[in-house]
Amino acid sequence: MTESDIIAAISTAPGRGGIGVVRISGPRLEKFLSGIVSRPVPPRRATLADFIDARGSAIDQGIALYFPAPRSYTGEDVLELHGHGGPVVLQLLLKRCLELGARPAQPGEFTRRAYLNDKIDLAQAESVADLIDASTAEAARSAVRSLQGAFSQRVDELIQALVGLRALVEAALDFPEEDVELIEHADGAGRLANLQAKLREVLSSSQQGSLLREGLRVVLVGRPNVGKSSLLNRLAGEELAIVTDIAGTTRDAIRQSVSIEGVPVHIIDTAGLRPPNDAVEKLGIARTWTAIEHADLVLLLLDATQGEGAADREIMRDLPAGPPRLRVMNKIDLVPRGPAVEYGSSGCTVWLSAKTGEGVDLLQRALLESVGWQRGTEGLFMARARHLHALQLAQRHLEQASREMGKLEILAEELRLCQQALGSITGEFTPDDLLGEIFERFCIGK
Ligand code: GDP
Repeated sequence: MTESDIIAAISTAPGRGGIGVVRISGPRLEKFLSGIVSRPVPPRRATLADFIDARGSAIDQGIALYFPAPRSYTGEDVLELHGHGGPVVLQLLLKRCLELGARPAQPGEFTRRAYLNDKIDLAQAESVADLIDASTAEAARSAVRSLQGAFSQRVDELIQALVGLRALVEAALDFPEEDVELIEHADGAGRLANLQAKLREVLSSSQQGSLLREGLRVVLVGRPNVGKSSLLNRLAGEELAIVTDIAGTTRDAIRQSVSIEGVPVHIIDTAGLRPPNDAVEKLGIARTWTAIEHADLVLLLLDATQGEGAADREIMRDLPAGPPRLRVMNKIDLVPRGPAVEYGSSGCTVWLSAKTGEGVDLLQRALLESVGWQRGTEGLFMARARHLHALQLAQRHLEQASREMGKLEILAEELRLCQQALGSITGEFTPDDLLGEIFERFCIGK
């Protein structure tokens, strides 16, 4: 266990609530306990007590929970004070903790300690933040699966297979006369191919999981009155209630998040891009343009009663060329044709009516297909861009290894680098600055 100081934080969200929790973690909290709780607190038993100040007067009355090391969230002694959820009373409790020698916890510091004390691995620690930030029910479910170790287990299986293969190669290096035969005899090439296939599977599941976390960024463009707001409302449907914005973006007139099959779809409505009135608005609009450049898809909405005109083509000309485009012919209830998806010289076109809802399911499917989403998310786990990069790097090293089967030194080195890439996912090989970056994005108290 890592020796460290005592940290304390209000772990519940700011504002008023039924209860509020102050969490304390560190080595040897017994003395601390008597300074703040009015009566002895047996381990792991909810104990009703007064929480007291330096003179012994009650700050609050609540439940104290004491988890002695190592059986606690952080692996250290942990004390939780469940009091009333008012900002002032919680601040007083926190102040009392600081008087007793604790210091305010940094964002994510409890989880960081859990990781450093081997209670969880790095991918699990990240899933704690992903669960808290989850913007759809499916994203939350997959984050829980990662927290329970589903992702780490798949990565560990890859590492185990890799270690076996490395042992074989290292053994062959020790017997230079019969090296290549040794590898052939143990079916080294077969094992490597097997490992590559397994890695492809994990990468594909991770790409799905990453979509649940990052979502799909769609830019909605079209002339006034083609039905952009109507389509947004239709896509939002009843699911809007549970969708929130991903961390770091603000909800405003030009961004809306909806959920399609549990995948968060962040829609930027360019109708909100009017000429700026002031510097703040200008900054917001500049950010929106950057978002447009990095979008996964541009949706051009057209009016089916009018077809594509010069004004529509002008809108498309103003947009950055990068993201793929999808055309939507809206208002089919006013023309004699049904909902459809068509593939033509100008790409894919979906015919629908935002008003009646006909064909909206076709658009939803086309949106998800554009980013390779596969149906059936049973057993899916949450993954981050960092994990995808590590898996892709591991994949490249395996490809290189398969080309170098005859050159044992190079083969051994590629396999070693592959293991290093995989190990960075669960935190086996992870530089300190990366840890800092990961945990500073957590909320305080977690
Ligand atoms: P926006 O300016 O592009 O956001 O367009 P709106 O969503 O405000 O729609 C403009 C007008 O078209 C409104 O009167 C809508 O009721 C109407 N509208 C939108 N979609 C449809 C549709 O699919 N069918 C019909 N008949 N009218 C529609």
